[in-house]
Amino acid sequence: MERWEELKNKIIEWGGSDVGFSRVEDFLPESHKHLKWAVTVVFHLSDQIMDDISDGPTLAYFHHYQTANALLDHIALRASSLIQEWGYRAMPVPASQIIDSKESIGFFQHKTAATRAGLGWIGKSALLVTKKFGPRVRLATILTDMPLPEGTPVEESGCGSCMVCVKSCPAGAIKGENWFPGIERSRLFDHEACSACMKEKFGHISPGKVCGICASRCPRGRIHKR
Ligand code: SF4
Ligand code: SF4
Repeated sequence: MERWEELKNKIIEWGGSDVGFSRVEDFLPESHKHLKWAVTVVFHLSDQIMDDISDGPTLAYFHHYQTANALLDHIALRASSLIQEWGYRAMPVPASQIIDSKESIGFFQHKTAATRAGLGWIGKSALLVTKKFGPRVRLATILTDMPLPEGTPVEESGCGSCMVCVKSCPAGAIKGENWFPGIERSRLFDHEACSACMKEKFGHISPGKVCGICASRCPRGRIHKR
């Protein structure tokens, strides 16, 4: 079995719902360009908890969101350790860690690696919309110099004329444009309006971190398997 197959099997065994591989050196700072491959770990959130979000986040959703992030961090840590044992460099990128609070972004955009791996596109909501689970996912990434088979990048939005998240957002933060690779996030979504609304309306539930309405209402995530 190839190393990448072994890695993928381990990630699924440890609780991941899906795995993607991509090449990402163009999106990394000079200091980290040698970690040119990315492993994207996907966790499929509970459909019941997502369905229960109607006009705002629930306590169950807030807890689930944090638990999913913790699991993803754990999986990324174990995967990085395994890759390192095989003689390569590996760096886990946390599921949710903001290093630029003004822009609300982390060291590396998980969504970028996910689209390059072919897992999905960026929705009008600025969330990753996966082909398998819609936007009902959390993500982590492992950057590595271990060669991996690249997926086929997604180059265009699958949202089409859908406007469900645009109409559902209580902040009016989603602008309604379709994503394409390289589009500035500000053309899709006003993150300051989103953050302000979450703090004002839902701060008592989730300290202003998660709302979940756009992720819950997206029809691409509402295709349940029985
Ligand atoms: S998280 Fe809530 S406030 Fe932010 S864009 Fe989505 S629906 Fe709007
Ligand atoms: S609700 Fe519609 S427009 Fe918004 S992300 Fe989902 S498919 Fe795209």
